[in-house]
Amino acid sequence: MKKSILLFTFLFVYAILKAADPVYTYIVDLTRVNNDQLLVTLITPEIEEKEITYYFPKIIPGTYRIADYGRFISDLKAYDKKGNELKVIRVDDNSWTISKSHKMTKLTYLVDDIFDTEIKENQVYPMAGTNIEDGKNFVLNTSGFFGYFEGKKELPFELKIIRPDAFYGSTGLIPVLNPSLSASIEKEMLQYVSEGTQIDHFTTENYNHFIDSPLMYCEPDTAIIDVAGTEVLISVYSPNKIVSSEYIASNLKEILYAQRDYLGGELPVDKYAFIFYCEDPSKLLPIQGALEHSYSSFYYFPDVAQENLLDGIRDAGAHEFFHIITPLNIHSEEIQYFDFNTPKISEHLWLYEGMTEYAAHHVQVKYGIISQEEYFATLKQKMTVASNNFNDTLSFTDLSRYTLDKHSSQYSNVYFKGSLIGMCLDIMLRDLSDGEYGTQDMMSNLSREYGKDNPFKDEDLFDKIVSLTYPEINDFFQNYVQGGAILPYEEVFQKVGVNYQSAISKREFSIGRIGLGVNENSQVYVSGIGRMNEFGKALGYEVNDVFLKINGEPMPESLADLQGFFDEARKNMKEGEIFTVSVKRGEEEVQLSSEIFKVDSSDQHVIAINEEATERQIRIRDAWLKPVK
Ligand SMILES: [Zn+2]
Repeated sequence: MKKSILLFTFLFVYAILKAADPVYTYIVDLTRVNNDQLLVTLITPEIEEKEITYYFPKIIPGTYRIADYGRFISDLKAYDKKGNELKVIRVDDNSWTISKSHKMTKLTYLVDDIFDTEIKENQVYPMAGTNIEDGKNFVLNTSGFFGYFEGKKELPFELKIIRPDAFYGSTGLIPVLNPSLSASIEKEMLQYVSEGTQIDHFTTENYNHFIDSPLMYCEPDTAIIDVAGTEVLISVYSPNKIVSSEYIASNLKEILYAQRDYLGGELPVDKYAFIFYCEDPSKLLPIQGALEHSYSSFYYFPDVAQENLLDGIRDAGAHEFFHIITPLNIHSEEIQYFDFNTPKISEHLWLYEGMTEYAAHHVQVKYGIISQEEYFATLKQKMTVASNNFNDTLSFTDLSRYTLDKHSSQYSNVYFKGSLIGMCLDIMLRDLSDGEYGTQDMMSNLSREYGKDNPFKDEDLFDKIVSLTYPEINDFFQNYVQGGAILPYEEVFQKVGVNYQSAISKREFSIGRIGLGVNENSQVYVSGIGRMNEFGKALGYEVNDVFLKINGEPMPESLADLQGFFDEARKNMKEGEIFTVSVKRGEEEVQLSSEIFKVDSSDQHVIAINEEATERQIRIRDAWLKPVK
């Protein structure tokens, strides 16, 4: 019969095509570290071009800062199937051109890790960095280990990791159990088979998915929790064994349940991995933090008493997890078609980072994880940083668009003013809808409107939001997001019966209002006395004084305890008693002392509930801060 013959032929051709489907196969052997470097082998996909460029990313999604990962790659060699070397020219930090690439079958190179690099300029964020610590820990943020060929980012990527028996790979990727290997891969893999090792196999759809998938290898400390049907892996590497996955899991569970309710009853993924790398304080890099991915997030935190990390774990965990909504499910074309080597930044960082940061704290007050007072303290802190540390009148869309160059120093304001834009928008929407509609609904509408594979055009977003909500919102976007006006806190808080004052003066105890820094020996020192108050002058601080003791109490060993230590010292101050600070000045130990007195200080961004709020104000406030009944 004709039909079935046709079908047969079709299947046969399909099978041949399938076998020849080009794929990248990367192999890394974690058991063979040499000179703090790892060798990476790539069995290359079939390439027709006679010359091709191989790239490492200049930047990756979610970071908004140039990383130049190629800087950590050396000794790159390309081979044909007989093992002859092909000509390779290194063009710049991130690219290599390979001649006769149509003959290439294999590429190898060495990777240096980023955590302990000697390269100090333009440091890569450690949460997007890499670690090679033989026998202990490997952090494979994939952007630091694996590149792509020009025009071939859409091919599938396979990853084979050879690991010690006792190691576990934590990742949001799902391992492929019994993969079928082609003859050439099988042959290549034979040389890696040895006693006491195992091979893990992973596959990703394309390069974006590969770069979206960090892995951490070490002896496991993992916990798995079920949050409303979502399987959540918590994996921790704590070199001093003081932070445990169990502790983090028990604390993240509460916030994840709140996030589920905040998102309307369901978590948007079936599986998710929280990967925590805790760094020994002696090696701690100046920047710590976390980076979001579609099915995981990676954390670089200090290895200190876990109770001290609790707020950070909750805040960062909530923030990174909420990124599943944006930019992962609501984003512009710049993100959908991400260009790893000639990046263009969307103008909507207020949405991706600002709304995410707003929701990360708002969810906590709404579901009772923090109190209203704690929430107001967070808002106050964000307002203070936004107004004192950043340019508060810079257009937020401009900040966003030029965040890689002329406005890079303003980038971090996305976590401060960005989240306050979110707060103002939420309260305005609650007011306009008589409490029925807020940013939670707006984000859910936008997710439905766009979604993972359907980007918006940057210039259309404000109109879209206005069409989904209220015309009044257009003025807000024009004045405060596109424009650089200072956010109208007083007017906005008035809608929810909250009093706001931009500054009030008062008298209070103080340590001296000096600038503080941390030196290379992790000691706290006086970095500036330009704004020192009367009490600081009475004590007589000098720049570069290193703190040894306050009132006879030695400084805490961990920097994480510092804030608490100073707060405690201030809390114990009593007028008329003597306050002493021992400092190291040059080679000498000097005792500074003064009778304690209060100083004039101005308190900025004072937020308080209006006890005489109207019934409507209270209703809108409850809609803002309490769960829907
Ligand atoms: Zn973020």
